[in-house]
Amino acid sequence: MDSEPPAAPPDGRRRLFVQNFGCQMNDYDVERMHEVLGARGYDAVATAEEADLIVINTCSVREKAEAKVASAAGRYRELKQQRPGVMVAIGGCVAQQEGERLLKRIPVADFTFGPDQIPSLPALLERRAQGGRFAATEVIEVEDYRFLSAEPRPGQVPVTALVTIQKGCDNHCAFCVVPATRGREVSRPWREVVDEVARFVQAGAREITLIGQNVNSYHGIGADNPHGDGDDFAELLARVDAVPGLVRLRYTTSHPHDFTDKVADAFRDLKTLCKWLHLPVQSGSSRTLKRMVRDYTREQYLRQIEYVKSVCPDISLSTDIIVGYPGETDSDFAETMSLLEIVQYDSIYSFEYSERPDTPALKLALRDNVPSEVKAKRLQAVQALQKTITERRLARWVGREVEVLVEGDSARHPGQLCGRTTGNEMVNFAGPPSLAGRMVMVKITAARGHTLVGEHAQSGHRLAVIA
Ligand code: SAM
Ligand code: SF4
Repeated sequence: MDSEPPAAPPDGRRRLFVQNFGCQMNDYDVERMHEVLGARGYDAVATAEEADLIVINTCSVREKAEAKVASAAGRYRELKQQRPGVMVAIGGCVAQQEGERLLKRIPVADFTFGPDQIPSLPALLERRAQGGRFAATEVIEVEDYRFLSAEPRPGQVPVTALVTIQKGCDNHCAFCVVPATRGREVSRPWREVVDEVARFVQAGAREITLIGQNVNSYHGIGADNPHGDGDDFAELLARVDAVPGLVRLRYTTSHPHDFTDKVADAFRDLKTLCKWLHLPVQSGSSRTLKRMVRDYTREQYLRQIEYVKSVCPDISLSTDIIVGYPGETDSDFAETMSLLEIVQYDSIYSFEYSERPDTPALKLALRDNVPSEVKAKRLQAVQALQKTITERRLARWVGREVEVLVEGDSARHPGQLCGRTTGNEMVNFAGPPSLAGRMVMVKITAARGHTLVGEHAQSGHRLAVIA
């Protein structure tokens, strides 16, 4: 399965293109790849056609995501035939899980590498240049794991930036492949988190999203934490909130099992924390939740939602739903539908269950036994119900003036700006590009699909810019 290593580009300059799939952890990993390789002379380019190095950063959470790897690789096979100097590397969760097998399946790949190998990318490229294809999937032990420190450069920092607080996951949700691909949970020391947030803010970011697979189980405060383990995340939020110049703070993803009232209180108490919570429920049936090994019941979840709404009445809520989980009956599914009615989420992400390798569901002999047409019908029903709820929820903003952090030009609506409300609703409105990065008041005039449409509000004779 060996092939000649690609030759170095003749002009000495190197160009990197990354095709990314999956979650925010993957988005974050892509940024680290650009940093690590940028320091070795790789410039980012917008298309694969211009690149000397193409990285496909994969996701294996659902079957559909995994299938995209093969079709992406197929596209690059032709490119490599035209320009044999091009190198193709496959990273991310599929690469971690499949390693050598992926090399066999995808001959165009020069090497594969897991998420823990990102800091070693220059050495891996060097190794490939010496000859031989290989899979670099070594997982770094918890005690040896070090987080890559991001070095944001002024002028190149987005208005909204991601900062990782955790890697891996110690939960055992039966459907989920993440613990198998990303390894044990490691919390990043709080000082590193706060310092990185401060660096991003200094370099121009206004909003920071703290990311991890289960941020509520964060335990990186250490010996000086006066509040004990369960509330470490609440303490971290308070410390990040105090970073001078930070305008907005968000976090994702939460797990209901570890979501404490103290973390909920932060929505009321912290000045920068946005009024938005993504709290994946997965199912509205306690029977299904037990079989998913989620460690909470429908009643416990609903109590958390009630508490969050009591401390922050205007909060926007979102969730993840899986339909067609092994053994899910019509009445289990009806409980998911009724939970959507009760909670009134602003938006949801919904998926048909797909069996994944190396998940606890397989060890528990939970067979993928809901017929695909039933899954499809349930998904349709969930999405149709949520569409009406989302429309109703968005309509509450029409006629009101809301604070919007402007992210820049709208990709979908040329000539318009786009930004988000504190509740994470996207807003499009007309205004000068110079408003990018500013917090402005926008009068909402309509809701279309998942987006709000508005006009930049006037304050006296001046445009209302808040920060
Ligand atoms: N860590 C997060 C959590 O605990 O909710 C999210 C993990 S996963 C990357 C994102 C979502 O994908 C999950 O919340 C779940 O709804 C969905 N998902 C994960 N495994 C799945 C599977 N085997 N089939 C269908 N959907 C799945
Ligand atoms: Fe997967 Fe559960 Fe961990 Fe989320 S909390 S990453 S769903 S195992």
